[in-house]
Amino acid sequence: MIAANWKMYKTIPEAVAYVGRFVPMVRNAADVDILIAPPFTAISSVAAALKKGGRTDIFVAAQDVFYEEKGAFTGEVSPSMIRDAGGGFAIVGHSERRQYFHETDSLVNKKAKAALKGGLGVIICVGETIEERNTGRTFDVVKRQVSEALVEFQEADFKNTVFAYEPIWAIGTGVTATPEQAEEAHLFIRSVMKEIYGGDIAGDMRILYGGSVKPDNVDEIMACPDVDGALVGGASLDPESFSRLVMFKKG
Ligand code: PEP
Repeated sequence: MIAANWKMYKTIPEAVAYVGRFVPMVRNAADVDILIAPPFTAISSVAAALKKGGRTDIFVAAQDVFYEEKGAFTGEVSPSMIRDAGGGFAIVGHSERRQYFHETDSLVNKKAKAALKGGLGVIICVGETIEERNTGRTFDVVKRQVSEALVEFQEADFKNTVFAYEPIWAIGTGVTATPEQAEEAHLFIRSVMKEIYGGDIAGDMRILYGGSVKPDNVDEIMACPDVDGALVGGASLDPESFSRLVMFKKG
């Protein structure tokens, strides 16, 4: 899966124009799920533009979701509202939400469960800060984030769950984890999953890498055996560069 996280970029006309350019560029993409996460305001327009372009197989995602279905929660958006707008996935626990909006592991877990219950797939983001890496705490942090995100998950939930390992020091910085660092972390996440849920679930779980993935490094990152895709911010904003990522060269 190659996923675009547009963050707080693109108006509705910009989003629709992007889809119009992007769809023909990925005409020949094979064996890859494509996902686009626009701001909430553009979800329904992106879904409609993809439909018009004959690409209803490209997933549209929300960048966040709330854990209640309805109620007095000013500013929040529920799983069924996302589905109603044409979204099929929600990203939860992005580091920018953890950092700027103080989202905790237990909130991420509540959001993930609600999204799944509401019929959405989820991409759960985890990853360490540079300080945590430099003090040897990467594995402790990632293990905590993974296991707490999955509290009370049922076996069927895993089918619709994707992890994204996004070291915070690599997001939007231009610094990418080396393929060795990415592979090591992905393998570790799989081992944590295996310990808790067994080999089958761990083996089938899709784990994306995120952090400054660009046209010039996507092929080496995607060549790592435990990297099943990429979650991309900056390089997904331009359809040309994102289409190059979708068409990564298989090693
Ligand atoms: C992200 O926001 O999930 C991300 C990986 O951003 P970037 O590709 O810009 O580092």
